[in-house]
Amino acid sequence: MKQTDVNPLFRSLDEQGEGMVSKAAILARLTQSGIATNDSRLPGVLSVLESIKGNKVSKEGFDALLSYGGTLFERAITGQLVIPEFTQFSQEVQQIFNTVLDNREGKVADYIPQLGRVPADKFGVAICTIDGQRFCLGDVDDAFTLQSSCKPILYCAALEEHGEEKVHRHVGREPSGLSFNELTLNRIGLPHNPMINAGAIMSSSLMRRDLPTADRLEYLNSIVKALSGDRQPGFNNAVFQSERETADRNFALAHHMRERGAFPEGIEINSTLDYYFAACSTEVTANNMSTISATLANGGVCPQTGQRVFTKETIKNCLSMMYSCGMYDYSGEFAFKVGIPAKSSVSGVIMAVIPNVLGIAVWSPRLDACGNSVRGVDFLTKLVERFCFHNYDSLVESKKLDPRRVRNERESNLIYQAIYAASIGDVNELKRLVAHEHDLNSADYDGRTPLHLAAAEGQAEAVGYLLKQKVQHNPLDRWGFTPLDDAIRHKQQAVIQLLDGDKDGPKKVA
Ligand code: GLU
Repeated sequence: MKQTDVNPLFRSLDEQGEGMVSKAAILARLTQSGIATNDSRLPGVLSVLESIKGNKVSKEGFDALLSYGGTLFERAITGQLVIPEFTQFSQEVQQIFNTVLDNREGKVADYIPQLGRVPADKFGVAICTIDGQRFCLGDVDDAFTLQSSCKPILYCAALEEHGEEKVHRHVGREPSGLSFNELTLNRIGLPHNPMINAGAIMSSSLMRRDLPTADRLEYLNSIVKALSGDRQPGFNNAVFQSERETADRNFALAHHMRERGAFPEGIEINSTLDYYFAACSTEVTANNMSTISATLANGGVCPQTGQRVFTKETIKNCLSMMYSCGMYDYSGEFAFKVGIPAKSSVSGVIMAVIPNVLGIAVWSPRLDACGNSVRGVDFLTKLVERFCFHNYDSLVESKKLDPRRVRNERESNLIYQAIYAASIGDVNELKRLVAHEHDLNSADYDGRTPLHLAAAEGQAEAVGYLLKQKVQHNPLDRWGFTPLDDAIRHKQQAVIQLLDGDKDGPKKVA
């Protein structure tokens, strides 16, 4: 299997037909795919390339590169990632960015001095796909505070801890039709939804009440870190203090909710509000925010680390809320025109999610009358005019571009990805597939499972991992062979020992 896969790929890079491919050509392919050469998921690739003398790589060297780079590397250089033509896609995005750059309408939020001092003209756009392809433009490494974009995160955390039923005993699911901090509750005395202040204060009140204050804060920090691909968020203490000092409305909302009996038993208002202000004052960059959005787009698994942060159900609920309530008083209009789940914040960031494709962060501090970033809305509107990302674009014929691969193709590929990853011993890729709830027992057309391939190729670590995942030990392929049969045929001693320890005693070949 490996030979047939590798040869055409090697040939395609070996433009001179000299049995060698240039290192530069390999790295260029990788970069064009949107995967950075220093991507943390490809630690072996650069060191293998460096260890090969000269500027060219032989067929054997290329095989070594493939086995170190694993499935991600191969999918990247063969155009198998979710946006295969990533360079073209990035060029389109660049054009939209350039058009929007001239838009200087709106006004920076100044309800606290710290926000008012942010340079108005900052503009950053960061995109991260569910495969971790990245494209960034402008001020993507400047830190800004989450403000309202913490609301989806708080809501997800509350859902993970308590489940949908309990959370929605304390917060509704309807757009309020009123300003985000309006002093109002729904007709049964609950916040209208989790995307407005009252709802986010409610989510805060639900999170890890068993922990001391400092540990609760660390917990919040750990969630933001995991969502951002293991990148430590910052904290803006000046913003935190200012939020606290100018928080009459949020205090009023909390007291109103307590008066109406909306909170769970035993809630302390000051510490609940402090928790919400701390979440608002957490700092990220557009770059990291795009990873957070991509984690949502990826059903709760961070594309960069493969870690499952939230369940798929939690993400589905959160995206539904973002879709209907995420853009302040422009939410209905945004759902109609742009048609993607998004959450806006007064710091000027909009996080937007194209489910199963990518996450976006657009940061530009000038806001419109509703509190949305002017350039952010402009950019996302134009993006959806160019690409068929609107939730209902599939229903209409249009000339819009579709940059993604066909979904069914992607799903059936999961079986082959798992089999291939097992054959080259790429345990990280197997873990990623498990995080996506892929069934590692799934077999290809010939009944070959990941365990068959790992056994045949002598990938003891992968066999060990598969056994720990409790895959079936003795599935039969089309020819009636079990993984142990394969290990014996190919004299894979370490694997034979692992599989022979199975007390169910898989059948052996004569
Ligand atoms: N910290 C702000 C507040 O609670 C967040 C506002 C926002 O981004 O919508 O008023």
